[in-house]
Amino acid sequence: MKKNTKNYPKLVGIIGHPIAHSWSPMIHQTAFNLARESYSYFGFDVLPKNLGDALKGMQALGIAGLNVTLPHKEAVIEFLDEVAADARLVGAVNTVYVRNDMLVGHNTDVDGVVAALKPFRDQISNESVTVFGAGGGARAVVYSLISYFRPAEICVINRDASRGELLRKFFSDSQNYRNIKVFELHNIDEGKAVESSKLVVNATQVGMYPLVNENIMVPDDREYDGKIFFDLVYNPVQTNFLKSAKKKNAITVSGLEMLYQQAAKAFELWTGVVMPLDRVRAKLDAKFQGEASPKKRRAAVQKV
Ligand code: NAP
Repeated sequence: MKKNTKNYPKLVGIIGHPIAHSWSPMIHQTAFNLARESYSYFGFDVLPKNLGDALKGMQALGIAGLNVTLPHKEAVIEFLDEVAADARLVGAVNTVYVRNDMLVGHNTDVDGVVAALKPFRDQISNESVTVFGAGGGARAVVYSLISYFRPAEICVINRDASRGELLRKFFSDSQNYRNIKVFELHNIDEGKAVESSKLVVNATQVGMYPLVNENIMVPDDREYDGKIFFDLVYNPVQTNFLKSAKKKNAITVSGLEMLYQQAAKAFELWTGVVMPLDRVRAKLDAKFQGEASPKKRRAAVQKV
């Protein structure tokens, strides 16, 4: 029997634990309103033990799509009927949508990284790059670099070197990419790695609210003209990492750009319509980048 829900807005949302920090509700609801798409976006705080039931509930309630955030990005895979190739190769899903009554998983973080770095494709290709971090975000970055930018070498620097080693082995086996070198944070000369890289990525939580005063290594005794510094952290938009790099004449790319771009891809998967990204930015940039303290920004997001 077919469900008749045509008088109601379609439901989409985000599952994670916690989810109060997420800026996705604000981005998506703004986009739905601007595009006049009849969707409502909700936050669902789902404990790990309830993940399977949440996915069953999604189907039973006719929820059209979900964003998936920490800690569920990897665990969600076992509850899906189909997983897109990019997501399978990264080993993580951040967007679920329904197609022919089946739950399909996608990794739009990859789309976000690729779109954010696309203007620099020629500069990155065949050059050395450095990635700080070896978690889910770093995996999306490393996969995107290998698949779409082909750097000569990727230097992964992580606090826990064994996690970096797992990442190296994963991409060596799955992508046949042998040019990842792994180092333990604070146990190498980070300045040297940064100096010999065309692109430097912070894919750690360092600098993320509430740790806004922390900074991943950007040695300030040298210039970084022409180098690209990309921070996955988006709250605050201007992190200490980006501020230090900008002071040394680097090109900077903020995590907000990736956040918008991954949201745009999820929006398209759910609605079949292109997100009016320029208009979303025009509405939200000031709010996200404004003078308000991170605490106030977080409170504003929680109200949405
Ligand atoms: P994750 O899987 O939990 O990985 C966290 C990473 O941060 C690990 O490499 C961890 O190192 C490192 N780390 C945490 N605290 C640290 C510290 N005090 N010093 C040094 N390293 C530290 O998280 P994730 O999903 O990769 O997220 C990482 C960051 O990316 C978060 O800020 C997240 O918001 C951001 N992100 C942004 C977007 C976007 O659209 N802009 C998308 C995805 C993620 P260990 O392995 O040693 O613990």
